[in-house]
Amino acid sequence: MSKAIVSKLYDSDVFRMACRQFDKAADAINLPEAIRDRTKYPRRCMAVALPIRRDNGTTVVFEGYRVQHSLSTGPSKGGLRFHQDVTLGEVAALAMWMSWKCSLVGLPFGGAKGGVIVDPFNLSPGELERLSRRYMQEMVPFLSPHVDIAAPDLGTNEQVMAWMMDTYSNHVGHVEPAIVTGKPLVLGGSEGRREATGRGVAYLVKTYLDDLKIPVGQATVAVQGFGNVGSETAAALAEYGARIIAISDHTAAFHNPQGIDVKKAQQYVQFNRVLHDFDGGEPITNEQLLELPCTVLAPAAIERVITEVNAPRLRCRILAEAANGPTTNGADRVLESREEIEVIPDVLCNSGGVIVSYFEWLQNLQHYYWTRDEVLAKLYAVLDKAKASVGYQQRKLKFSRRLAALTLGIQRVAEAKQKRGLFP
Ligand code: NAD
Repeated sequence: MSKAIVSKLYDSDVFRMACRQFDKAADAINLPEAIRDRTKYPRRCMAVALPIRRDNGTTVVFEGYRVQHSLSTGPSKGGLRFHQDVTLGEVAALAMWMSWKCSLVGLPFGGAKGGVIVDPFNLSPGELERLSRRYMQEMVPFLSPHVDIAAPDLGTNEQVMAWMMDTYSNHVGHVEPAIVTGKPLVLGGSEGRREATGRGVAYLVKTYLDDLKIPVGQATVAVQGFGNVGSETAAALAEYGARIIAISDHTAAFHNPQGIDVKKAQQYVQFNRVLHDFDGGEPITNEQLLELPCTVLAPAAIERVITEVNAPRLRCRILAEAANGPTTNGADRVLESREEIEVIPDVLCNSGGVIVSYFEWLQNLQHYYWTRDEVLAKLYAVLDKAKASVGYQQRKLKFSRRLAALTLGIQRVAEAKQKRGLFP
């Protein structure tokens, strides 16, 4: 079969990075040529103009995207990002990773992602609400609980999901909680969803520490990004007994070898939105944080922060990829040669978020709600199974852990497409 004829629509560093990962995985498992390109490229994308009224009476137009990468095994599923550096290519890469992630952990979803080019820190609460509602309004023809379901990601949260759920419900004329996940509990959110991604990261880190026979009480942890995922990862690891020695966000980074009081930092961010001027440690830079000696390094912010340049200088035992795509292809090659560093790849490491999103969607469709203990027990069972299957693939084919996880995810998506035929 000849190669895909594609435009430069998605072209960007991060999309090329996701494609290189795919190509390497496809080569490693000899994925037939005939199925490669249609497994790799997104099924469809939408770009929308989002005019909103600012508080000062002027009108401003933002640009938003939604990429549905795969709809072969069920509705597509993926977060919505509000960030000033969003590009269509980035959203496409994130959607692609969602496909491999859902497939790896066995969820009946394809991957999707959304994004709006906006710095949410520059919006008032009213402006944020108008933008969130406008985005959902524009996406009404393309989203539904059985087509594509949104969730929070960088720069969005439960409140944004509540406005989006309300906008969609008003449009269809009845309450439709299953249109988004990561909602407030009172609107049909799931127990345990807010902390699910971070809890999942921490749970996996704990099990890998157990494998390495490192007592969690002796582990030190550095976390980049102190939003939903980073702060909950830090809180859960601190609960297990680990010492959190560094945290950061886009405004500041702090180091405290004695241990940072994570609860105090969470309260600080609740009131101040950011870590700037937090007094729980010595100020350092985000770059220094990544290179601190520690047992666990958890990048939990943005893509492409572990590069060819800093990868040789990492001094962690476990690199837990809480963010999506934190490690460039070049850095990956360096890490493959540094056998002393255990990488927990993003598609496995942060999958707790989409797993509990799946539970939330199920609960919404059934109008039957589970307890937090039930949710977390089911989450850990799915993670255990996914971790075991990645370990098995790693040993069987002598792959790196990333290659093992990606090949499992990609293989199942490709197989589903092959079984269905050419259209999905
Ligand atoms: P968030 O907006 O709640 O938090 C992001 C944090 O990263 C903030 O503290 C922000 O200040 C910080 N940050 C942003 N740019 C930074 C930079 N250049 N350097 C250092 N810190 C920076 O977002 P989130 O939901 O926690 O998402 C974080 C990452 O986790 C993203 O890669 C996202 O795709 C991924 N993820 C999120 C979920 C989820 O359930 N929310 C699930 C899976 C993966």
